[in-house]
Amino acid sequence: MGTAPKRDLVSIDDLSCAEIMELFRHADQFREDLRSWSDLCRGSIMATLFLEPSTRTRLSFESAMLRLGGGVVTAAEASSTSQAKGESLADTVRVVGGAYADILVVRHPCDGAARVAAQYASVPVINGGDGVHEHPTQTLCDLYTLWREKGELEGLDVVLCGDLRFSRTIHSFAYALARFGANIVTIPYPGFEMPKPVLERLDAEFGVSAVAASVGDLPGLAVGDNSAAYLTASRPHQLALFTRLTPHHVERIDAIYMTRAQRERHSGQSTEGYPRISTELMKADVMRDARIMHPLPRTDEIEYEVDSDPRSIYFRQAEFGVPVRMALMAYLLGAIEIEAESPEQFASSPGRRFGAGVGALCPNERCITNSEAVRYLPAEFRIRREDPPVLSCAYCGASRRAEWIGCVTSRRYHRWDSGDARKIKAENRVYFESEEQARVEGYSVGR
Ligand code: ASP
Repeated sequence: MGTAPKRDLVSIDDLSCAEIMELFRHADQFREDLRSWSDLCRGSIMATLFLEPSTRTRLSFESAMLRLGGGVVTAAEASSTSQAKGESLADTVRVVGGAYADILVVRHPCDGAARVAAQYASVPVINGGDGVHEHPTQTLCDLYTLWREKGELEGLDVVLCGDLRFSRTIHSFAYALARFGANIVTIPYPGFEMPKPVLERLDAEFGVSAVAASVGDLPGLAVGDNSAAYLTASRPHQLALFTRLTPHHVERIDAIYMTRAQRERHSGQSTEGYPRISTELMKADVMRDARIMHPLPRTDEIEYEVDSDPRSIYFRQAEFGVPVRMALMAYLLGAIEIEAESPEQFASSPGRRFGAGVGALCPNERCITNSEAVRYLPAEFRIRREDPPVLSCAYCGASRRAEWIGCVTSRRYHRWDSGDARKIKAENRVYFESEEQARVEGYSVGR
């Protein structure tokens, strides 16, 4: 490896679109003969630290590293690591990244855990799925498969269906689709809609807004009256217009990305009437060019009879996990060159940080800063938007409103929309949710 700062893949936004396309061209080459690349990463060691169950992600990463000629060390269960003895993730990755391994792949039940791992490890960290937050390498496989099928990503109409709330694969995929200029149709199982922070990020970072969508009769998808939404970067509407009276009519579906109900993250909610892809649905006219995608594992949401339909591509998504992950690891280890520019500021990197007041907590109870990292890591926020101020957690992306803005030099605070607040220079601002919080931190009300 050279002297360039290490690169991590915590969020799909850590790679630019151009980098992703170059990685895909390398994946194409790797796919031609997976067995002929065993000199590329000879001598490198990958550690997989998987504190949640996995089949495809871990095995395809391990296979990818072995095919690149490197070695693998694995901790595949929390109970077999010192995490079970109360060790922090920060300490674990500090030790494993370095003498033990040159690259780490981490899966963890807490949202934001991959960012913490990236912050403390001295070697590149790849997010293998952190809570309900993101699963960026699944997205690389999904995008690659879809791009290979359709020849392009821009302008596609992609339906995201099922448990949009707790599926991390959905969140990363939605960010990437928006960035590549695809349109998204959401068909959630009622109560499992796309979370607000995800919609806010789509809006703030990619200019995506939503209108109600009509998709006609899709047997088995039980689209509720107002539940389908069409998310597109090209329409000047606000998120609040979800229930607009003139819905966008979807005439052609390019892909349906189905997800299972993430039962391990629910508190026993019933999923009766959960959407299901059946041979009947495949006959609908709007489905003629549709590809059926799924990150797997499938439970009951795609009929087995649909497997033999040539439009079903979910096993290909899993198969392509090996060449795509080979390309990613070879890149992060400096074994292949990529000319494309990296993102200006990695969206999920600490970047410009703002205090939200000492003691302010991330509003997401699943965030790692509210669980194990509470011992060593204060919550930190970045500005998502200024008018009105919305802060997002630097680890899990959850957002919170800030009603008051303080000045670190005068130690005075003002309402966010006052003239005095607007005069405070960006670098001197500190944001508070309440006046009480400002006072606790020693600020007094501005005159
Ligand atoms: N395997 C994917 C994940 O780990 C999808 C799923 O479990 O439903 O998120």
